[in-house]
Amino acid sequence: MNILSFNREELRDRVQKLGLEPFRADQILNWVYKKFVTDFREMSNLSKPAREMLSEVFSFYSLTPVDKVPSSDAVKYIFQTRDGYLIETVLIKERDHLTLCVSSQVGCAVGCTFCATALDGLKRNLEAHEIVEQFIRVQQDTDTRIRNVVFMGMGEPLANYDNVRKAVSVMVSPWGLDLSKRRVTVSTSGLINQLRRMSEDKLMREVNLAVSLNSPRHRLREEIMPITKTNPLRELMDVLIEFPLPVYRRITLEYVLIKGVNDDVRDAEELVRLIGRHRKRFKVNLIPYNPDPALPYSRPDLESVYRFQKVLWGNKISALIRFSKGVEVFGACGQLRNRSMVKFNLHGKGTKVDS
Ligand code: SAH
Ligand code: SF4
Repeated sequence: MNILSFNREELRDRVQKLGLEPFRADQILNWVYKKFVTDFREMSNLSKPAREMLSEVFSFYSLTPVDKVPSSDAVKYIFQTRDGYLIETVLIKERDHLTLCVSSQVGCAVGCTFCATALDGLKRNLEAHEIVEQFIRVQQDTDTRIRNVVFMGMGEPLANYDNVRKAVSVMVSPWGLDLSKRRVTVSTSGLINQLRRMSEDKLMREVNLAVSLNSPRHRLREEIMPITKTNPLRELMDVLIEFPLPVYRRITLEYVLIKGVNDDVRDAEELVRLIGRHRKRFKVNLIPYNPDPALPYSRPDLESVYRFQKVLWGNKISALIRFSKGVEVFGACGQLRNRSMVKFNLHGKGTKVDS
């Protein structure tokens, strides 16, 4: 049984069934999520027989670290799952803090035409413990405490709702990683039913919500994000406008700027119209496209990025330009793919990894 998928209540219950006092569960959680100790032998406030029994019943890990690729502003970690898939996690160095970009699925079924993760389709959902483990593993390898998490790695988090919810609960609970809800961001391509579910879910609606908009026009969005057919843009906007937000919180609209596709001033003007009078509810993140050798899209020049931003600013809409980090490590946050083989070839090292 993997301990990283238990919440406090479940663990207290389980530990009691094993003949231990329930408060032992709190001691274990404290070791794991406050000290990042994942070996029962080191849990010195538990008796030796208890430690031995617990290590027979519980495991902590199911991922195997395969590679770590540092760059100036990010470190990319590659993990292998028990069933042989590779997933990626990116630690991003921001100016004054660290942000961890976690994967929620192996691949993705949503099929956005510009996204490398879509190329392999969906292999499977990640379990809650596999999501939490990405955090623990990277934290154990990092001196500074990681306090921000974004679900912007591989996968569509809302298509794996239950496991993502469970992982989020470990992340924000005081007995768990105890991250501020404001520092956990779930990014979605805009699955309307799942957004409705999220809006009724007290835990999930209190974390940050980011929605990948990528075009203010239904037609074009349908082309680059085919889920728009079943999740129409107008309906998506209506759900977002009604979404119950905590005070002072805004929804982030992510807009990947792709040269000649959605980066025209007219697109910016259309975006202004789409947001309309709800400019206080939204902020826009403009992300210049990260080109991928397997995809026919490119990044606009900086001038058009600024021009786009200016239109939004001119209409009092807050818009930041966010360069996707870790570009040099061949695959950035939000642009991940099961491509270790390629990288191994490039570096001429490493053992073969079946994927
Ligand atoms: N599936 C979720 C979360 C993962 S993708 C979603 O779509 O929101 C995270 C972000 O990366 C999305 O906003 C997506 O539009 C963006 N992205 C995907 N490919 C990219 C690329 N090549 N360059 C820049 N951003 C990209
Ligand atoms: Fe999936 Fe997000 Fe990539 Fe679209 S952008 S294919 S939803 S990971």
